[in-house]
Amino acid sequence: MSKDLTSKPLFGENFVEHDGYRYYIMKDHDMVNLSELIAYDAIIIEGTSAKLIEERVSNIRKNLNQAFFLIPVFVLKGNFSLPIYVEELIDGSIFSIDQVNLVTPIVHKIHLRNNEVTINTALSYEAQLISKTLTYMYSRELNQLNAQLHPNSGIGFTFPILSVNFEPKEEFRVLEILEIAEKEGVLISEFHDRTHLCSQCHTGFLAYRECCPKCGSANSESQDIIHHFVCGFVGPISDFQNEIDDQLNCPKCTRTLRHIGVDYDKPSVLHECFNCGHKFQDFNVRAKCVTCTFDNDVQQLIGREISNYTMSKKGEMAAINGFTSTSKDIEDIIGTVKLDTYRTMLKYEIERIRQTDGKSNICAIHIANSGQLYSKIGSDMQKSLLKDMVELVRRNIRSSDMITFYDSSTILLSMNDIPLKVGQNIISEICALIEKLLKTNFNDLEVDINYNIKRINFKLSNELQIQQVIKDFYPDV
Ligand SMILES: [Zn+2]
Ligand SMILES: [Zn+2]
Ligand SMILES: [Zn+2]
Repeated sequence: MSKDLTSKPLFGENFVEHDGYRYYIMKDHDMVNLSELIAYDAIIIEGTSAKLIEERVSNIRKNLNQAFFLIPVFVLKGNFSLPIYVEELIDGSIFSIDQVNLVTPIVHKIHLRNNEVTINTALSYEAQLISKTLTYMYSRELNQLNAQLHPNSGIGFTFPILSVNFEPKEEFRVLEILEIAEKEGVLISEFHDRTHLCSQCHTGFLAYRECCPKCGSANSESQDIIHHFVCGFVGPISDFQNEIDDQLNCPKCTRTLRHIGVDYDKPSVLHECFNCGHKFQDFNVRAKCVTCTFDNDVQQLIGREISNYTMSKKGEMAAINGFTSTSKDIEDIIGTVKLDTYRTMLKYEIERIRQTDGKSNICAIHIANSGQLYSKIGSDMQKSLLKDMVELVRRNIRSSDMITFYDSSTILLSMNDIPLKVGQNIISEICALIEKLLKTNFNDLEVDINYNIKRINFKLSNELQIQQVIKDFYPDV
């Protein structure tokens, strides 16, 4: 497409067109249904307050419709500034609608990047949000996902493009999702700060108070305790004070106190509770939750590390090829073992072969167009499809052989104690059956199933042999 940035914008009733892109102009009083906006290439929010703009852009970014949350959004700026976390959710600002030609190159770039990403139906909400975050980062060429202090966040910190999906009360789930994303290797964390959350509702808006250890009241007064070296008297400072001047006189020996550290000392502090009269030296620090009103003992609070994140190469690939499931999602499928367990068992099998000269094999079955497949169905159906596939594989191998998911498009099997040729016949039979299964479920879809089988080599590591059996399916990794 040729880019003629000098061409004049064309104005419609609620849109403006420039260089082949159609921008919807969202006015303050606009009650537009978000789904109608899919027909536009970008949105310009013409808001009169920062609050309204925040609300509108949040509604766009938290939308689960893939075609929609990635849409370029610009703000027609009035006489106010936007909080930084809102700036992170938009693609730029203009000061007059005539300046639309200045942002057309940005729209062009985002649309090119958006065409590269894949968003499948994910197996779980966690996987869906990880997918959303990665695709947005890829789309905007953002390598970093950084925590920002935010007064309206349920945990005090926001990761704008991810946190926008949650109500403040649920925002602690953002930390869980980031943890999963890190475990999956798509994000890499770096320590940023630490925070404490309410033990009951997991929010971080807490009122800390020093309380009486007996009755819990915060209504108390503190005073220094003075030790007069000369006579040995120890008592609260009020016993040494008079109403006329600042001088301190010892109530026991009546001498005037001179210099702290020389003739007297302040060894500790005494607190007196006005509620129950209790006198004590150590407060009980409590944190009352502003959200649910629970009064936490500080020891009960949930300490959480807040990190900044960088997208890994694997994360970039997940944005391009689609991120469907977390390890936990596929671990839940009966008849399979965890990938880690598979690795360990393979290690033992390699050792056994070294000693017995046995013949065992590992194989991989790959659905090349799984993204296309999964995008047609909901997550429940996707789970049951994977379950059916596992059952089918299970029926055709021995009960001692293992099945695991490398990811949601690749199944790994072990076929122990059989010659490679026999294994080849079994695996090609299994693939034909899977093809049949998929075709009956999706008769309009061309299914593309590949497999690979290799004899286990006792001279190579388990990890290397897994990589060798799947490498043809992942040319980019
Ligand atoms: Zn609470
Ligand atoms: Zn008390
Ligand atoms: Zn004294």
